Amino acid sequence: MRRTFVAGNWKMHGTLAANEALLTAILAGIADTKTQVALCVPYPYLSQAQSRLAGTAVAWGAQNLSQHAKGAYTGEVSAAMLNDFGCRYVIVGHSERRALYGESDDLVAEKYAAAQAAGLTPILCLGETLNEREACLTEQVVGRQLAAVLARCGAASLAKAVIAYEPVWAIGSGLTATPDQAQAVHAFIRGQVRAMDAAVAEGLIIQYGGSVKAASAAELFAQPDIDGGLVGGASLDADEFLAICKAG
Ligand code: PEP
Repeated sequence: MRRTFVAGNWKMHGTLAANEALLTAILAGIADTKTQVALCVPYPYLSQAQSRLAGTAVAWGAQNLSQHAKGAYTGEVSAAMLNDFGCRYVIVGHSERRALYGESDDLVAEKYAAAQAAGLTPILCLGETLNEREACLTEQVVGRQLAAVLARCGAASLAKAVIAYEPVWAIGSGLTATPDQAQAVHAFIRGQVRAMDAAVAEGLIIQYGGSVKAASAAELFAQPDIDGGLVGGASLDADEFLAICKAG
């Protein structure tokens, strides 16, 4: 039986004061959930996350990292730096990074490898655009994104990773994939992994992401291949986020 895992992606939101209130409210309500929970915060707030979340049931992480270990890469942040702030997780290949910052499948695979080499657990995002879905290319696109990581790191690496299926058209749009639509892609992803390593496939956590709300979470998480959620907007509202965590 896989455990439900809900991760919040704060994206580029927050202030020290607002985060303090949000973290306090989340910590006050999290005690009675069995769901595994993590918050992926902007780099400048990692220290705050570490000091507020260390020793609690909530883990923390970042939203991106450099593929390089160190060097002349102005503005970049390495996996080792994330380790210095106690991160357990790092999101790689979020569709906003792929679309807005030109991250290719190969670069995402490099970042995934860099995260794992430093002992971080990558949350690998996969997902198709609306055009791709309408052209019946969902499996081709998601399969290609996954294959880049499998080619570089192998299926066994997924024993220390999380996958988030995030249809691009559902992110921040208010359009959640139906449970059937999401389940079909999750089953496809697990099947691709199963073909290479059955044991890893069975234990693999595959989150759904895309406008998850408290109202939609329980039905999504009840699907056999949906093991939780990667939550953007709703992770900025403590009550909504806690309700999603409790739906697991
Ligand atoms: C995300 O940022 O990964 C995401 C799924 O956002 P939202 O929940 O706001 O759609």
